[in-house]
Amino acid sequence: MKLKIKRLCGLKKTALKDNLVEVQRFVSNPRYICCKCARVANDGSKLCKPEKMCS
Ligand SMILES: [Zn+2]
Repeated sequence: MKLKIKRLCGLKKTALKDNLVEVQRFVSNPRYICCKCARVANDGSKLCKPEKMCS
């Protein structure tokens, strides 16, 4: 499947459903949290306001 998701923030419900496997890969080992949306991701570039998580 082609990767269409640039950011987890503001992801539409349909986009999430279509890319659920990919999204799970992005959040499986979260090291960043978005200060605006409270979403987490392995990679800070997937969030609109990434902040490194402690621990
Ligand atoms: Zn965000």
